[in-house]
Amino acid sequence: MIDLKPGLSPIPLAIEKNYTTIVTFISMKPTNAIRLFAFLIVQNFGVAANCQNINDLKLKDFHPVSIYKTPQTKIERAKYPVIDFHSHDYPKTNEEIKEWVKTMDEVGIAKSIILSYSTGARFDSVVEKYQPFKDRFEIWCGFDYTGYDKPGWEQHAVEELERCYKKGARGVGELGDKGLGEFYSKPTPGWGLHIDDPRMKPLLEKCADLHMPVSIHVAEDAWMYEKADSANDGLMNAGTWKVDMSKKGILDHDQLVSTLENAVKNNPNTVFIACHLANCCSDLSKLARLFDTYPNLYADIAARYSEIAPIPRYVHDFMEKYPSRIVYGTDMGVSKRMYTTTFRILETADEHFYEQWLFNYHWPLYGLSLTDETLKKIYGDNGKKISEYQQRK
Ligand SMILES: [Zn+2]
Repeated sequence: MIDLKPGLSPIPLAIEKNYTTIVTFISMKPTNAIRLFAFLIVQNFGVAANCQNINDLKLKDFHPVSIYKTPQTKIERAKYPVIDFHSHDYPKTNEEIKEWVKTMDEVGIAKSIILSYSTGARFDSVVEKYQPFKDRFEIWCGFDYTGYDKPGWEQHAVEELERCYKKGARGVGELGDKGLGEFYSKPTPGWGLHIDDPRMKPLLEKCADLHMPVSIHVAEDAWMYEKADSANDGLMNAGTWKVDMSKKGILDHDQLVSTLENAVKNNPNTVFIACHLANCCSDLSKLARLFDTYPNLYADIAARYSEIAPIPRYVHDFMEKYPSRIVYGTDMGVSKRMYTTTFRILETADEHFYEQWLFNYHWPLYGLSLTDETLKKIYGDNGKKISEYQQRK
């Protein structure tokens, strides 16, 4: 990932430089003063040319640097051993996997779950690729939607799920529906097929039989449904991830969360992990209600650090209330700085810091300052509980 951290603005630098020059100017001999005066004109002309015209400044070019002298905590390693419930098959070569394992060792990630989305030969090749590192990675498969519009598909899909299980899949994911159906699975998307579709039931029941948790992404966060205009609170990402609600048959945010709720309710023996806090970051009361109602639901916090860090006290209380239902996840590549940034947000009480290079939002972040008991559960204990469930067949 590219480090886009911006440099210092030229404006405060120019003021600081010129103050020193003026003090020097007053205290020097006249001949030197003339030379310096000429230099100052040239220098200031240069500074003026470098200055940004703020009337033309675009939000995408707004890279503020915090000037607050407040505690800056450097976290090199997670406080407790971590299971990452939301990663993907990023490395291209064996060497790159080795590099990744080295980073995992440095930052304290004991195991990463690779959500492969895949079935068939594609799934087998991912398993093969991570075979030498199988104590550090768990590969989860997708659902096979090939021929889902034809009768008898369910049977075929269940057989493929069992085959993947025998190959080593210990969970399913990442399933993904942004309104038009389950389109994340490879090689075949299931357009029009939502998680609560009756045709999905045999697959979800088979997941319960095999003790395979289902990791599922529904909808997007609320910013992506609002108009991408000057009033949009999360504009930078709202533009990039905008959901086009004009598409025929598309479900909106709450309808998608309802499809998840129906599936969780109708399959009480299946364990579900709602990716990205069920994309309810701007209104966590929706997820709280689901947690209160359904004991078979977990949520991962992958790629939503920047959505929760602007409201640290509210999210702190939410996580302290549901510490046994939330699991750590990343979904943002494999860099060391990515991992340590997530730890800083979860563990510290640091205030008003920017990590635009990773999250793209223009807003400052605040640490959640979670208690040790909660951190321990989110990082690893809940993952261990899920591992025990997977093995308890
Ligand atoms: Zn993902």
